[in-house]
Amino acid sequence: MNTHTDSIKPRIVVIGVGHLGAIHVKLWTQNAQAVLVGVLDENAERAQAVLSEVGNLDSRVFTSLAEALKNADAVSIVTPTSTHFDIATLALSAGKHCFIEKPITTTSLQALELNTLAEQNGCVIHVGHVERFNPALRAFQSSTQHYDFAPLFIEAHRLAQFKPRATDVSVILDLMIHDIDIVLWLVKSRVVQIDANGVAVLTDTPDIANARIRFENGCVANLTASRITQKPMRKMRVFQRDAYVSMDFAEKSVEVFRLMDEEGAGNAMQSSLAGGVPAMMLGNIEAGTRNRAILFEKPIVTDSNAIAAEQQHFLDAIRLGDASATPPATTALEAAEALRVAEIITAQMMG
Ligand code: NAD
Repeated sequence: MNTHTDSIKPRIVVIGVGHLGAIHVKLWTQNAQAVLVGVLDENAERAQAVLSEVGNLDSRVFTSLAEALKNADAVSIVTPTSTHFDIATLALSAGKHCFIEKPITTTSLQALELNTLAEQNGCVIHVGHVERFNPALRAFQSSTQHYDFAPLFIEAHRLAQFKPRATDVSVILDLMIHDIDIVLWLVKSRVVQIDANGVAVLTDTPDIANARIRFENGCVANLTASRITQKPMRKMRVFQRDAYVSMDFAEKSVEVFRLMDEEGAGNAMQSSLAGGVPAMMLGNIEAGTRNRAILFEKPIVTDSNAIAAEQQHFLDAIRLGDASATPPATTALEAAEALRVAEIITAQMMG
């Protein structure tokens, strides 16, 4: 395994410095535990402009992938999705750790191949499923420690305005893949049935899609993704026996509603308030002989830059020599499973 000690800072190259790659460059420049040695982009002028914009005078523009890999210990691959597999194959074969933006590849088989290649070459792969690092999801997960988390129905909406970027893949791989990954991670059960439909409105692949995923444990997830919406939205609602949680990934907020006996709700409210978590009783419901109280809580969301947190996890994974040792990052195998589900959704749509 190509591990790094604390005293040796991994040398990083960002490959692809368009919209998201420029953010990777800025954040790597600010990370004191790594050295951004350079960038590579098909458009060399753009590469130079991005370095100048962030005021990085120490990094250089590489002119070929071979030259970039020779000078790197690890790479951020932020090129269009259809190029990830070829670039990552060369990088991993050369023994370089890879932070690959989501979706990892265009097919699940390619993702599995990259995973095998990483294992053979002692490299780690971090997949940029950035929503796992969204502070709202982190706060939601902390809040589930207070009750038995057993989701039965999940509703997700991920709606964006149209942008020509990322249209090399369908809305399923562009946007819905985030929610597929989160739902598989939360439900932790086998997918047994998928019903899906979608419409190619502006591009040659679906731009709006809906998928209903049924899990072996009875949970159902209803996911809607669109890249042709006027009003952007990134929300997930989770329902289970005696609890309902609403998460807003864009606003970074979480709301929890729980149904409990009155005494339990009173105690839970006091303990939340004592911990600084806003909480209040919303009223009572009479169910048979039992009088139940509705407790509302608003878990505290600690704001942070999710991509900077991902980069730090990538460095930790390199140091530990194991990407699966640094949750909540998505491993290559989890990314492959999300793609497998995405492939079934796509096949369902095609008829
Ligand atoms: P973009 O079109 O803005 O940028 C892509 C850049 O890659 C361009 O500068 C292009 O010149 C360069 N490029 C293309 N082929 C190349 C090659 N073979 N070698 C070197 N450079 C090459 O795209 P983007 O919006 O930045 O998206 C890039 C990737 O990031 C995609 O896989 C996308 O799915 C992913 N992404 C992830 C998120 C997220 O939420 N995690 C958000 C946006 C984009």
